[in-house]
Amino acid sequence: MFKYLFQFCWFIFATILTQIGGIIWLLCMPLFAFIKKKVQHKGKALGANVLVFLLIYLCLTFTLIPALASALGRVPLPFWATSTQPLQPLNRLTYLLNRHYVTPQLYETISKVALQMQQQYPGTITAYLDANLPFINGFPLVPHLSHKDGKKLDLAFFYTNAQTQTALQIVAPSWIGYGGCELPKLRESNQTAICEKKGFWQYGILEKLFGKSNTSYAFDEERTRHIIQLLTADKRISKIFIEPHLKSRLGFSNNAKVRFHGCRSVRHDDHIHLQIR
Ligand SMILES: [Zn+2]
Repeated sequence: MFKYLFQFCWFIFATILTQIGGIIWLLCMPLFAFIKKKVQHKGKALGANVLVFLLIYLCLTFTLIPALASALGRVPLPFWATSTQPLQPLNRLTYLLNRHYVTPQLYETISKVALQMQQQYPGTITAYLDANLPFINGFPLVPHLSHKDGKKLDLAFFYTNAQTQTALQIVAPSWIGYGGCELPKLRESNQTAICEKKGFWQYGILEKLFGKSNTSYAFDEERTRHIIQLLTADKRISKIFIEPHLKSRLGFSNNAKVRFHGCRSVRHDDHIHLQIR
């Protein structure tokens, strides 16, 4: 009984996290049965099951899933940045968990913007965070409930070395990319305090959970401002969410595309959310 409950919970968890993980686990069942017959030792059999699952999952993640998703309207963002496409995940887990799919229009848009960033600031690589899962419109990428149609993408801010002011690439103060917030300065609006006062306890949760684990990074205002300028200038982009104090600090107070996302969401002073029409 416990075994079936565990398998059910694992199926749900793997499906929520990666969309395809639960199904691949089910497809591996005949192999698990085969291993059980051949390997008597329970611990070794479990280890073999996990290994087989991971191997098949990773193979499919790099081969069949992108091909199928592309045929159905979503394409994978790149795993490695190149000189012609200076774009890569901040954390490779984003890719390995299949959370890096976007529509071809968004793919084109962000590839163009990443290239423009590199032309303006040589060596700059744009780091992306969560995008969308590979299949099915309406299937949300938990916890970002709006990332469900291939048209949404989160980008990491840019950072410099706090001591030397040298531009850094593919880094963020928090290892998952979320939660390392660029806090409001004195006299800047504090939206987190406003939302939490209204009872939206979840608004600042990521900062509390993941906080700044690396304080040697300083927020790179110049490059972050520039990428938002490029994004807002692109007709295909409809909305960009950042925290109100950054909207004003970076000079986007009069830009209608740069908006506040509402207290039901989470704070956006650790990343840029963008979406296309
Ligand atoms: Zn987002």
